[in-house]
Amino acid sequence: MRLPGLQTVFSAIIGLLVAAACTAGSSQPVGAGLETRGLPATADGSGLGFGAIPRVGEHVVKSPEEWRQQLSASRFEVLREHGTERAFSGALWDHHEEGVYRCAGCGAPLFSSEDKFNSGTGWPSYTRPIELGRVGETSDRSFGMVRTEVHCDACGGHLGHLFEDGPAPTGLRYCINSASLVFEPAAQAPPAAKEATP
Ligand code: FE
Repeated sequence: MRLPGLQTVFSAIIGLLVAAACTAGSSQPVGAGLETRGLPATADGSGLGFGAIPRVGEHVVKSPEEWRQQLSASRFEVLREHGTERAFSGALWDHHEEGVYRCAGCGAPLFSSEDKFNSGTGWPSYTRPIELGRVGETSDRSFGMVRTEVHCDACGGHLGHLFEDGPAPTGLRYCINSASLVFEPAAQAPPAAKEATP
């Protein structure tokens, strides 16, 4: 007896395996494989009033009441209640100093000034996080839209949204609320020693 269906069955199995691989790929977070520049050795967050800064993978857990006591009303609304500040109203959308943007809730480093760009949207915008593992993603289906929400991986604080219409090199736009961030200026280089005069 011939087995006329053997090749067909084999093709079907291959097809299923390819489909499974594609499905698995599409569930990856958008920013999962990005090359990041890393945190400058001089940026330790020590001047910002946080206690210990969480390392990658560490988590900060506080009750809503503890967050409410720690944060200003505008920061609490954005970070803990998924609020969105009005465009062009925040402190950092037109901010151009060199340094590190940290989570206003826990101090975790999130973005570098070197990845900030002028998106024209009125919100601070970045092409990538400063380190992998710092910015988490969830699917946000509020307001009848499907968007990628981004948050601080350490404390879960809501930051903003991620869009795939940014500039090179990533093509991504991390659209972030100023209220979720604090800025740590780059360390000033020590003044050059004066040349000895005869
Ligand atoms: Fe945080």
